[in-house]
Amino acid sequence: MIPVSKPLLGKKEKEAVWRVLESGILAQGPRVAEFEKRFAEYIRVKYAVATSSGTTALHLALLAHGIKKGDEVITTPFTFIASSNAILYCGAKPVFVDIGEDFNINPDLIEKKITKKTKAILPVHLFGYPADMVKIMKIAKKYHLAVIEDCCQAHGASIFGKKVGSFGTGCFSFYPTKNMTTGEGGMITTNNKQIAERAKLLRNHGMKIRYYHDVLGFNFRMTDIAAAIGLEQLKKLEKFNKKRIGNANYLNKNIKTKGIILPKVKIGYRHVFHQYTIRVTPQCPKSREELIRILNDNGIGSAIYYPLPVYHQKPYVRLSCKNRFPVTEKCTREVLSIPVHPSLTKRDLNKIVSVLNNL
Ligand SMILES: *Cc1c(COP(=O)(O)O)cnc(C)c1O
Repeated sequence: MIPVSKPLLGKKEKEAVWRVLESGILAQGPRVAEFEKRFAEYIRVKYAVATSSGTTALHLALLAHGIKKGDEVITTPFTFIASSNAILYCGAKPVFVDIGEDFNINPDLIEKKITKKTKAILPVHLFGYPADMVKIMKIAKKYHLAVIEDCCQAHGASIFGKKVGSFGTGCFSFYPTKNMTTGEGGMITTNNKQIAERAKLLRNHGMKIRYYHDVLGFNFRMTDIAAAIGLEQLKKLEKFNKKRIGNANYLNKNIKTKGIILPKVKIGYRHVFHQYTIRVTPQCPKSREELIRILNDNGIGSAIYYPLPVYHQKPYVRLSCKNRFPVTEKCTREVLSIPVHPSLTKRDLNKIVSVLNNL
């Protein structure tokens, strides 16, 4: 079976973990500090703050920006639920804006949703493709809003060479399915010293001097075990991303099925293909459900990211979101992610192409 995602771990990671175990420093320590330094260099920002997950990175970033009860945060409904759960954790209200054909928040619909309560915009670089940060930063500047980028699927994605996570405050995840992993883990990236310091304070129970607590904080720390894996994975990230991009280019060039829309990449945008997501339109000879079964029968994994918009998820029903989101609704019906991860072989790719071209 060709899985839809697969972590790539090797001897280097094993040895790095072993060295941490031998050192006896297991919780947040020198490996975390080193990982933060290297990750900040990679994204080309001044500061990086490691966390226990992508979800806690988002939560911490919003708190560091002062998001609280009564505030509104503009975001996309077509994402993994953690993006907007982080807004709810702060007591704030997620205000959803429909997506464009690229699956990301449609920047032209944002201004209409801004009110006196709006404090931030939280775009998601879904599937590894950058949201339109040029337009989003312009709007944020005009209305004095914070920008928290959900980069959990977009390590190394960029717009004209500028990496996502360096426009606003970036939040990354290192869950095993992502472009690089630490098991569980996350990272906040920023050029703002105050934001970095507040995130560090809140990450560790609001404590600067041991056992003196300035504010109500959390335990959102990363372990040195996770950071040691992260340091090795970071060295391999560019190789992984290049492989993903190469695989996606191959699929784009060779899939010729009627009624299947393939991912497009705008000039200057670097898509790092966390997922390769096609759209199975009504013009396709097979329905999405039939296609999933055919792929499965041929040993090819696939997945629907995401079958239900966030506003229809149970914890969000009480917000009784009355707006309509036609592009989101259409995409939840049509999307299908097929394997693109770096461990695919030429044979795997050819098999995927030949199954799709012979429906
Ligand atoms: C994975 C992911 C998260 C959450 O990351 P965790 O490390 O699993 O907590 C948030 N947003 C998006 C878009 C993700 O894909």
